[in-house]
Amino acid sequence: MAELKFKRVLLKLSGESLMGEQGFGISAEVLDFFADEVKKVHDAGVQLGIVIGGGNIYRGLSAHSQGIDRATGDQMGMLATMINSLALQNAIEKRGIHTRLMSAIKMDEIAEPYIRRRAIRHLEKGRVVIFGAGTGHPYFSTDTAASLRAVEIGADVIVKGTRVDGVYDSDPEKNPEALKFDKISYLEILKQNLRVMDLTAVSLCQENNLPMMVFNMDKPDNLLKLVLGETVGTFINN
Ligand code: UDP
Repeated sequence: MAELKFKRVLLKLSGESLMGEQGFGISAEVLDFFADEVKKVHDAGVQLGIVIGGGNIYRGLSAHSQGIDRATGDQMGMLATMINSLALQNAIEKRGIHTRLMSAIKMDEIAEPYIRRRAIRHLEKGRVVIFGAGTGHPYFSTDTAASLRAVEIGADVIVKGTRVDGVYDSDPEKNPEALKFDKISYLEILKQNLRVMDLTAVSLCQENNLPMMVFNMDKPDNLLKLVLGETVGTFINN
């Protein structure tokens, strides 16, 4: 078996990426693709935790325009992450991998409550752990939830799957001249106001010395390459 660069990894996937081409909801094709990519790193021996967003279903920020209070909208958003988490859990388990879904909001009939030490035990036993319902609190994002869980479980790295190849000096989907960084510090991210994650998430990683890799999740084998130490995206640290 090839040597792993990262043994315990927290993967952050956006809810929006689950929509695929269809522009809403959950694409079966994308779900299967993600589960295949997860299987590759699991089979390579990685202890994997996953946080998936809910933006394909509901975002707290859009609540206001519908006359819904922000905090209530955020709670709706957190429930949306549970729907995505259940779908992802199902797809991963179909590939013969044991998983546990742990929720930050108690819903005992559907998922285990999030208990840090228990999550670590699951990882040690080779189960893929999906962390649902964000942080359990409104006014946060799933990027922050991912950073928090990564720090809590002692992950070697947080890997953020995106549609682009890493962090650029401007939006590569709008500016063809945009330059990609192979490596950059958290301080530079903040100074240049690069929209990698929200400020709360970035400062959690920065303060706890947790490195991050931003990479293109849509390319087959990228996640595997990344854990084996190949440069497939932008590496961020202090
Ligand atoms: N959310 C929240 N607290 C959290 C995590 C998420 O209130 O700890 C809500 C928030 O409203 C957010 C929504 O859940 O808009 C969906 O998550 P997010 O927008 O981060 O998903 P993504 O952009 O990754 O799809």
